[in-house]
Amino acid sequence: MGYDTSRSELAYGLAEQVIAGGVNSGARGPDAGWLPSPPVVARGRGPELWDVDGNRYIDHLLALGPMIHGHAHPEMTEAVSTAIAELGTMYALPYELEAEAARAIVDAVPSVELVRFSNSGTEAVLHATRIARAATGRSIVVRFEGQYHGWADQLEWSHHPDLTAAGPVSRPNALPGSLGIPAAFGSALVVMPWNDAETIEAFMTERGDEVAAILTEPVMGNTGVIPPNPGYLELLRDLATRHGTVLIFDEVITGFRVALGGAQAKYGVTPDLTTMAKALGGGFPVSAVGGKRELMELVADGRVLHAGTYNASTLATAAVKASLGILSRPGTYERLYAVSERLQQGIGSLLEEAGVTVQVQGVGPMFQVWFSETPVTNYREAAAHLNSPRYATLVRALLERGVMVHPSNIELWFVSTVHTDEHVDHVLNVFADAVAATREVLVAGDAEA
Ligand code: PMP
Repeated sequence: MGYDTSRSELAYGLAEQVIAGGVNSGARGPDAGWLPSPPVVARGRGPELWDVDGNRYIDHLLALGPMIHGHAHPEMTEAVSTAIAELGTMYALPYELEAEAARAIVDAVPSVELVRFSNSGTEAVLHATRIARAATGRSIVVRFEGQYHGWADQLEWSHHPDLTAAGPVSRPNALPGSLGIPAAFGSALVVMPWNDAETIEAFMTERGDEVAAILTEPVMGNTGVIPPNPGYLELLRDLATRHGTVLIFDEVITGFRVALGGAQAKYGVTPDLTTMAKALGGGFPVSAVGGKRELMELVADGRVLHAGTYNASTLATAAVKASLGILSRPGTYERLYAVSERLQQGIGSLLEEAGVTVQVQGVGPMFQVWFSETPVTNYREAAAHLNSPRYATLVRALLERGVMVHPSNIELWFVSTVHTDEHVDHVLNVFADAVAATREVLVAGDAEA
């Protein structure tokens, strides 16, 4: 018996011969914490995954967020396969379903009057910042340390910077997150600490009239989960309004997840532009930027270029309509929150009972566990607990027992509409067992681990 991953290792080895690093996105490989190599998936169904060794997992990785309805949800599969079979996939001409999909977004998200579809979150954020710069005639975009807005040269800065180079807490250096990013892009960004009201207020007072956009995840979801301090999103709204700056909420993770209308609906703060992906397509590649009519008119009349051969394929728009249709049903978010909160409380209690102090930080169906004495409110506080070896040890024990989560705590636990109380019971039993098996490491602290 035991946890056998020999077939996965073999399959990964074959992939490595022809795919750079054996994976097609950075978060999937050994570099990102999957050691010695990631499980190679055979299939997914509902809230479960099977790997090529036949190991079965309750899935809380959920493809890093898109699978809000679990895998192969019958309604998603039916909607998309019918669209492909009956309509074909793309025409470089408009068709009726794309307006229906756009209408579903406009009806769901309070601030969105007009949308444009793309294929990835990265593209949507690039598009949003272009609109903001066009609308204001300014170049600077304020972004926050520890957040992620996609891998493009213009945006992949100070995502998880090395603290030895990151500069002062209140005025972080803008640091590229990859080789090959021209330094010049950094001069169009200002990096700020998140959840720090005084710092952003002082900066905007001094230089607000140079700032095209304040770009923020409304709940930080790329350094575990860090909710906004009370009043912080309202402050960003107010500063943007005062200085003629465009407020962009990057709701790629939070959109249609923390509420049907996203974080802006949950917190009652209205951005000018919103980027959406992940839950929007329920597992199919689609993203959108949307916002006020007056900003989106720049796109409508072609002053701001937006293009893409693959934009709004029938599979993308059928997926949007189906995903938002399922999410719009009464009781969906109550259930998502109830299931996720039980899981979060259970995990917190099991660790506390084992003598390990943790912060379980979450908003609805997205959460993460910090091995921290105090709540984590920004990247600098998180940095001490990032890529925690204790967390990796715990995750390894969970994987061995059939619960799938990413081995790094910079990522998240997600809950889908098809996870039930029975799944939570099972995961908590497994969690208890995993804590018992790793308790020595967990109580020892990361330095000793
Ligand atoms: N913005 C946010 C907030 C994200 O979390 C991500 C991806 N995790 C992106 C943008 C980029 O999206 P994609 O991977 O679809 O390009």
